[in-house]
Amino acid sequence: MKTQKIAFLGLAFLTLFACRQKSNLEEVIQIPEPEAQETQSVYGNPAEVKAEKGKFKMRGLTYAYNALEPYMDGKTMEIHYSRHHLSYCNNLNKAIAGTDLEKWKLEEILKGSDPNNMAIRNNAGGYYNHNLYWEVMSPKAGGQPKDSLAAAINSDFGSYDAFKAQFVDAASKQFGSGWAWLVVNKAGKLVVGSTQNQDNPLMPDMPVSGTPILALDVWEHAYYLKYQSRRGEYISAFFNVVNWSVVEKKYLEAMKRVVKE
Ligand code: MN
Repeated sequence: MKTQKIAFLGLAFLTLFACRQKSNLEEVIQIPEPEAQETQSVYGNPAEVKAEKGKFKMRGLTYAYNALEPYMDGKTMEIHYSRHHLSYCNNLNKAIAGTDLEKWKLEEILKGSDPNNMAIRNNAGGYYNHNLYWEVMSPKAGGQPKDSLAAAINSDFGSYDAFKAQFVDAASKQFGSGWAWLVVNKAGKLVVGSTQNQDNPLMPDMPVSGTPILALDVWEHAYYLKYQSRRGEYISAFFNVVNWSVVEKKYLEAMKRVVKE
């Protein structure tokens, strides 16, 4: 009788232990719902990203890191803004510290500084290019340009679709790291092109020249976490987050400058 009781208690204990093990196991393998990762708290706050001392500052973003999902994932946006862009900003400040360039505007540095000074060229380009990239994207965007920008695109490319095909082509064929651009050239025409590394259409002797109004980063760091090597999917996704009203504003400003010059 006593043996039976011990056996019974032993069995009960083992059953309980097995149940506990099972529930622990369930907890471990539970995968968080995708929604849980889309809350802002998962990522940092772009407003808290500050440059080290220097002339140029981090301007923040007008949206959360995950606000452009599913097209641009929050993790990539966070790393891209708070690490890559921040280091261009800090390194630009370091490169100009104590030189005359501290008095120059950013556009003047791009247009007029020594193109053989790679620290200035890469970091001034990197700082400017990313500012434009963040600015031309927004949540609840996409669609097609309107009003004067739509008219200019139709006039200079034939149609929006023809413009888009050229832009996609430029972004896809840029070998290695670089940027795809829509720019207003010095004749006041819209043109598409791409540049290497952190080069920018304001710099001298670029494959595409003029005032940039739309920028797409095609460095792998801009898309690799979500799209791996599928750059084409990232380029298509970009069109869902282009804020055409911002691009139009930039178009009108660039045209005013063309008239003046
Ligand atoms: Mn980048």
